[in-house]
Amino acid sequence: MWPFSRNLPPAQAADVASPEPLYLSASVNDIIQALPDPALMVDGQGRVLHANALARDVLETDPQGLHLSASIRNPAVLEAVAAAAAGEEAVNVEYELRVPMLRSFLAHVSPLGQGQGALLVLRDLTREQQIERMRADFVANASHELRTPLTALTGFLETILGAARNDEKAQAKFLGLMRSQAERMRRLIDDLLSLSRIEMNEHVRPQGEVDLNQVAAHVCDVLSGMARELGCEVSLSADGPLLVTGSRDELVQVVQNLAENALKYGSSGKRVDIALRHDGGFAELTVRDHGPGIAAEHIPRLTERFYRVNVQESRSRGGTGLGLAIVKHIVSRHRGRLSIASELGKGSEFSVKIPLKA
Ligand code: ADP
Repeated sequence: MWPFSRNLPPAQAADVASPEPLYLSASVNDIIQALPDPALMVDGQGRVLHANALARDVLETDPQGLHLSASIRNPAVLEAVAAAAAGEEAVNVEYELRVPMLRSFLAHVSPLGQGQGALLVLRDLTREQQIERMRADFVANASHELRTPLTALTGFLETILGAARNDEKAQAKFLGLMRSQAERMRRLIDDLLSLSRIEMNEHVRPQGEVDLNQVAAHVCDVLSGMARELGCEVSLSADGPLLVTGSRDELVQVVQNLAENALKYGSSGKRVDIALRHDGGFAELTVRDHGPGIAAEHIPRLTERFYRVNVQESRSRGGTGLGLAIVKHIVSRHRGRLSIASELGKGSEFSVKIPLKA
């Protein structure tokens, strides 16, 4: 029960003048500390009277007792605080901190009393702005990826209708090229839709029961034709039944994307090994190829959407640049982990760990 509402029901509390003065034994400092954002209280001279732990964290110093300008150097914020401390209206000021890394804040500055001081509440906008930038980049990348095959399609179509109008052989050639561009657009749209579906459900853990051995065996069957064409042998080994809680279709997509990549980029190694084993409370699936490997600087970025070590190579092999982003999201939805190890000249190893079914 709230100490200040006592036993009065709310309707009565509003009608009757309270017999006792409302009283809360909390200091101004307690209130500042309880705020969910970094907050500072400044006196009429610009000295910091109180700063909560969040503000000390953001400013990386304890500003209490010092002039505000010792911890915040941005002139617009200092001016707004001086104006509010002199009794002017509340304002919002956006500013950036560059050290130790670039961060953006919205400072809400409001007057306290009549020229007695100001309250400064900071909101960290860095993550919001990053997400907005990523969204804009994603739309630009997706449009560019779709426009490239569309431009090629239009070009071939013009040739068929123009220069090659009476040349059946050339027409057959261009129609073949058009089909491969249309397939590329279809793959891209399929991957974009998969990614958006998985992202939408990322917070919901899938509920089915899936045998990872069976998933891996199915993927080996599906890819056997591709492996044969590339002259590559795919081996599958398992140390026993591996039941996990998950979505079978999504886990098939994980194993298929990893195994397909191993074949697409590592077929020069002539062998792809898929191994499944128990590791504590986890099922671990490892896809290993013996191809050219990946340079260390690329590894942390491979799961970014549209990131490719070599765009031309990926395109020529039917890649969209979304396969590993899809793998990462599915694995995270299954409360699992993806790890990538690679050495140039020796090949790559992609491992996925998913909690075993309890
Ligand atoms: P893509 O559709 O281009 O294959 P992915 O997201 O699946 O997109 O992979 C991103 C990039 O990672 C690929 O373009 C390729 O450069 C690199 N890559 C993925 N798997 C391997 C592998 N087994 N060996 C070498 N490079 C790989």
